[in-house]
Amino acid sequence: MQKKLIVGNWKMNGSLAANQALVRGVLDGLKGLQVNAAVCAPNVYLPQMQAMLQDQRALDLGAQDVSLHEQGAYTGEISADMLREFGIRYVIVGHSERRQYHGEQDPHVALKVQRALHAGITPIVCVGETLAERREGRTEEVVKRQLAAVIHVNGHCISEVVLAYEPVWAIGTGLTATPEEAQQVHSVLRKQLKAATEQAQRIAIVYGGSMNASNALTLLKQPDIDGGLIGGAALKVSDFLAIMAAASQCATAS
Ligand code: PEP
Repeated sequence: MQKKLIVGNWKMNGSLAANQALVRGVLDGLKGLQVNAAVCAPNVYLPQMQAMLQDQRALDLGAQDVSLHEQGAYTGEISADMLREFGIRYVIVGHSERRQYHGEQDPHVALKVQRALHAGITPIVCVGETLAERREGRTEEVVKRQLAAVIHVNGHCISEVVLAYEPVWAIGTGLTATPEEAQQVHSVLRKQLKAATEQAQRIAIVYGGSMNASNALTLLKQPDIDGGLIGGAALKVSDFLAIMAAASQCATAS
């Protein structure tokens, strides 16, 4: 069964009580759905999530960032090996909010991907253009440059990543790329992956940017959209489950 991948990015939201209610609701509603699912929680809540998610396989755990350093005098940083100790399966790398507010650039993102892969964690590598770049007709150039930096450092290991196309103008804004716009960029990224690895077809390329219960199905039906990275809608049990139900409808026999 070829399943879509739906990942919730909680960003800097949650509390011990809210996380517990959210995850309980999601685990209940996930039963019977044909979907690969994960939530990326703030680091301080990873032990709580690890405890809640043990003894089940329906919902994986992810983090939202990782240090590009291995260990040492980097106050405030969290290494990939540390994340691994908390049962982390995925880590988001190069999210536009990290690029925008924390000065992360393509070479940093490429090194973070390398650290995650060395620790046995699947990086979810985010690429995407700003509104100005889209208006200038530079979308493909921008996402290809961002992906090229990751391929340059990680070579054929690129087959081990999940790629997320997240147009910056669609994140948290309520604006979404049309299914055709998203598919077009995903097909460009797939082509670039094909030039780097024979495994390109099995790399999940997920879409992120105001995906919600109403637009998920049409987006997920696109041939090169293998799932979703969900921000706001991942914080409400019913919305997140509706997206996963849409993903389940799109699961295909492999
Ligand atoms: C995100 O943060 O990766 C994201 C896609 O957010 P939202 O769904 O809220 O646009």
